[in-house]
Amino acid sequence: METDEALDLLPAKYVADDQRGMRCDGERCSALSGRIGEGTSCLVYEVRPDVCRACLPGDPECRMARAAFGIV
Ligand code: SF4
Repeated sequence: METDEALDLLPAKYVADDQRGMRCDGERCSALSGRIGEGTSCLVYEVRPDVCRACLPGDPECRMARAAFGIV
């Protein structure tokens, strides 16, 4: 269970104004650094939300997201 204390560790500049998720730049999480399809990293990796921890490289959700953006 994700606690408020854990979520409070996220820098406010990456959190949506309504506090319901990460701030996005268009369809892209503002904490995502780099170029999609070439090399990316999470700027808040150590304190990323549980929903991010649940998605693993190559799992069904990952493959679905990659397909949605045309990344094979
Ligand atoms: S892991 Fe989560 S917080 Fe990090 S860049 Fe991806 S969506 Fe954003």
